[in-house]
Amino acid sequence: MTDKQFDAVSGMDVPRFAGVATFMRLPQKSIDQANDVDIGLIGIPWDGGTTNRPGPRHGPRQMRDQSSMIRRVHHLTGESPFDRARIADLGDCPVNPIDVMDALTRIEKHYVHILDKNILPLSAGGDHLCSLPVLRALAKKHGPMGMVHFDAHSDLWDSYFGGFKYTHGTPFARAIEEGLLDPARVVQIGLRGSVYDMEDRDFGKKHNVRMISIEEFDELGVDQTMAVARQLVGDVKTYISFDIDCPDPAYAPGTGTPEVGGFTNREALYMLRKLRGLNIVGADVVEVSPPFDPSGYTALNAVTMMFELLCVMAENLNAND
Ligand code: MN
Ligand code: MN
Repeated sequence: MTDKQFDAVSGMDVPRFAGVATFMRLPQKSIDQANDVDIGLIGIPWDGGTTNRPGPRHGPRQMRDQSSMIRRVHHLTGESPFDRARIADLGDCPVNPIDVMDALTRIEKHYVHILDKNILPLSAGGDHLCSLPVLRALAKKHGPMGMVHFDAHSDLWDSYFGGFKYTHGTPFARAIEEGLLDPARVVQIGLRGSVYDMEDRDFGKKHNVRMISIEEFDELGVDQTMAVARQLVGDVKTYISFDIDCPDPAYAPGTGTPEVGGFTNREALYMLRKLRGLNIVGADVVEVSPPFDPSGYTALNAVTMMFELLCVMAENLNAND
């Protein structure tokens, strides 16, 4: 299926450094104009859940800029997601930079609107708390979901600073408590670094979340790790969340909470390719903080991950037709 209306602008026609930046040089559409869109790329320019180094509110803009480096065809499959699906840049989600609870409400409402149009969302954060309102919107449509979560952190903490429950360290504890995720179908890959205490790991164990530390990943390797993940989520509706701090900070210094000793980019790309065929209902790549990496390399890393996700999502869409 090719619909020229939805094709990415080729670097052969307009040089990559020219033109207004949209995600992967795709057409930009408002949600009201998006009746025929299969997959929507959405920016969430918000970092009100950040507990340490801020900046992911600037993520979507730099990711759009760096995504002009993405070409249309995957070099291994020889195929383009832009031939398989109608994909558009749906712009940025409405947010409130000074009110956490209002921001969560606005983001959820926006995604309900997107899902009403049967658009599969692939989001660019924003800090990791952005995933919570997206999951709230998705759960209204799909019920409790599975999740494959790539991160140095579990994001299963209860609260920060005397009981505040909504930060980028707590989204998946809330999502499990609210019944948005089926915790027995949640797998976290890449956990590492020092922790405040074992509270998040205890929460995960109590709810049967499968937590794969970077050390266990080293033992299993890419193929076996992803076999474990695939078996765990099976064919249930599954969300994919990719925190850019899961690759080593050598590859992604521009993030709020870097932890040394992470994946190489190559391992991360290989793992995303192994998501083929899963029942993916949405995905995000979060925590890109441009002020900590003015080179833009972290954002390039993130949009390259988004392209791999897009290839998998577009392929699945066709398979499910
Ligand atoms: Mn995270
Ligand atoms: Mn993290």
